[in-house]
Amino acid sequence: MKKQKQVLSSGTVEMYFDAAFNQLTKLVDKKNAVIVTDENIFSKHRSKFKNWNVITLKPGEQYKIQLTADAIIDQLIEFQADRSTTLIGVGGGVITDLTGYVASIFMRGIRFGFVPTTLLAMVDASIGGKNGVDVGAYKNLVGSIRQPAFLLYDYGFLNTLPDMEWSNGFAEIIKHACIFDARMFDELKKHSLGRIKKEKKLLAYIVEKNVALKLAVVKKDEFEKGDRRLLNFGHTLGHALETQYDLTHGQAVALGMVFAAWLSEKILGLKKSSEIIQVLGQYKLPTFASFDTDRVFTILVMDKKRVSNTMHFILLDRIGKGVVHPMKINQLQKYVSTYTQLNK
Ligand code: ADP
Ligand code: ZN
Repeated sequence: MKKQKQVLSSGTVEMYFDAAFNQLTKLVDKKNAVIVTDENIFSKHRSKFKNWNVITLKPGEQYKIQLTADAIIDQLIEFQADRSTTLIGVGGGVITDLTGYVASIFMRGIRFGFVPTTLLAMVDASIGGKNGVDVGAYKNLVGSIRQPAFLLYDYGFLNTLPDMEWSNGFAEIIKHACIFDARMFDELKKHSLGRIKKEKKLLAYIVEKNVALKLAVVKKDEFEKGDRRLLNFGHTLGHALETQYDLTHGQAVALGMVFAAWLSEKILGLKKSSEIIQVLGQYKLPTFASFDTDRVFTILVMDKKRVSNTMHFILLDRIGKGVVHPMKINQLQKYVSTYTQLNK
């Protein structure tokens, strides 16, 4: 188990890489902790949860809502949780977002930590302290920024991860490479999904590298005024597509990144955008889809990143260098409309 300490203004996070789930007992008192997980994770890793207090939720983004937060709070009351209780989210992004959110409002805030069980949660969702729930079609509309006390990485959970979820994680990993790290991008080009799944050392290297990339930007800009916005690469259009069509987060973000790369070519003269398409395909992510501009735009204008009629869109100067590019909404709409015509 490798220990690392990260100090942020909204809290200090202890990170444990290459750890095993049962090492949790070194971080919390089993009797005074409550685990939040979902049915899939619980049923596939049942023995790990023995003798823990567990709240098991139905899986799926559609349950990342206030109603579920209320249900968790009811169960915490049943467990007679108090201010000294630690809440532990064991799961993907849905579970970590909900756990962090409930822990930051229950009794005005209790200690919490995460054991991310999806690749996406390991490299993205569990890092940065953003917690919250969706409201209707609006993702993460309600929430808080508060850091978990600890993050424990047990790569063993990934043995049961469905293929689709691997691709979801790689969407964010490819995103990190595009905006921050050309070398990482080249490495991703060189490897394959199959090889990374099999080689635990390579997997651990990629996870830790991506955690470091995300943490570095979060530390510099905890409250999202500057560079942290770069993490939205592919996400503005991505979120709109995700709510309007039957796509996973990773698939929607992949499509959003292809659009953003196309736009970067048009506006900033990005070269080699075809390499982005190639790498996304390599990790089994979609790169082309036809969609309805108007339908997507009604959601897109509600994006939290919009200020009045300007949107801070994330483009690439080159692979490995993301930039914040302010754009007028109607200008963006024209581009999206041209792009959808091209994809017909
Ligand atoms: P994310 O936002 O990280 O993609 P979710 O919380 O939506 O995560 O989880 C995605 C799906 O994967 C859910 O159906 C969840 O139950 C399932 N899942 C999470 N971790 C594992 C795992 N280690 N093994 C199998 N299924 C998992
Ligand atoms: Zn994302």
